[in-house]
Amino acid sequence: MKYPIAKPYIGKEEKAVVAKVLRSGVLSIGPEVVAFEKAFALKLGTKFACAVSSGTAGLHLTMLAAGLKKGDEVLTSPFSFIASANAILYVGATPVFVDINPVSFNIDPDKIEEKITTKTKAILVVHIFGQSADMKPILKLANKYKLKVIEDACESLNASYHGKKVGTFGESAVFAFYPNKQMTTGEGGMIVTNDRSVDALCRSLRNQGRSGNMQWLDHERLGYNYRLDEMSAALGRVQLQKLDWLIAEKRRIAALYKKHLAPYQKFLLLPRIISGNIHSWFVYVINIKNPLIKRDAVIEDLEKLGISTKAYLPSIHLFSFYKKLFKYKRGDFPVSEAVSDCSLALPFYIGLKEKDIKIISNIVVATLEKHEKYLQK
Ligand SMILES: *Cc1c(COP(=O)(O)O)cnc(C)c1O
Repeated sequence: MKYPIAKPYIGKEEKAVVAKVLRSGVLSIGPEVVAFEKAFALKLGTKFACAVSSGTAGLHLTMLAAGLKKGDEVLTSPFSFIASANAILYVGATPVFVDINPVSFNIDPDKIEEKITTKTKAILVVHIFGQSADMKPILKLANKYKLKVIEDACESLNASYHGKKVGTFGESAVFAFYPNKQMTTGEGGMIVTNDRSVDALCRSLRNQGRSGNMQWLDHERLGYNYRLDEMSAALGRVQLQKLDWLIAEKRRIAALYKKHLAPYQKFLLLPRIISGNIHSWFVYVINIKNPLIKRDAVIEDLEKLGISTKAYLPSIHLFSFYKKLFKYKRGDFPVSEAVSDCSLALPFYIGLKEKDIKIISNIVVATLEKHEKYLQK
């Protein structure tokens, strides 16, 4: 028996629609991207949606569209996938990390104000693991200091905060469709906004800086090739139709983990849902309670037993590249570091049955018990 940490759900409709695009011969800049964007905007309730080649590409374009540049500071979370902070660096701006809340793992609004300087121009809010950041105090501060809010919603498609969907709070937001996300296009992403000029700029930038008025030969600005191809868009359109079901299945599997792991809360912390949030279950991450247990050794033991798990996530400021660039060190963001050090993402994908969850839970608990015993020797 071997359990990977994630795998995409691909049904026969997905295979059929991709094959149809291949037969059509129109593999890029065609009707599938237009249809996918339209359906996505409708699902989220934004005016505009602009498909791009990855979530990272989308974040880069939202930084450019917000006018962020060298000398500007952007507040963000160190407890994220590296792409969020990197996007700030792409435009020459400086990511300024703010430590996280130990329950939600999202940026701690109480620690934002002390990081605001005359150079602060924006907050890149990351909604981690499928759960919204605490938007009310964040928006209040952004308003007070005239900061733009951009959302990295790559892990939280269809999550909501007090009834409002993640991705609809800021100037723009980005979703991602890598195969481990709530839905996939292979590689791909989506920028959403209610601001016509932001949408128009992103459309130009993803397509070599071409002007939007169909004058194909004019390039108005430095652009990129961040287009999404037609096969990916077709796949995305079908996955989007199944999104509610895909997330409901993940929610069901999360509930099964809770059922089977709840008796062992003296060893481990289970995911907690903040009141007012609807979680959209990107990953299932537990935290080992005893800080003396060597988490990486637990991961190695579980791998040998056929269960893939992963540290989720390492704190960005402790990656060698960031340490070198900004002289970060251990202790700079203690909450993020503590959460990173004991986190363990468990196998989490559609197709896992209750008997699988039972097997995985039992082996995880037995492995943790074994490591507790080592410590007592
Ligand atoms: C997945 C993800 C991204 C974007 O990833 P891509 O692989 O470029 O699509 C960005 N931020 C976060 C927090 C993510 O989890």
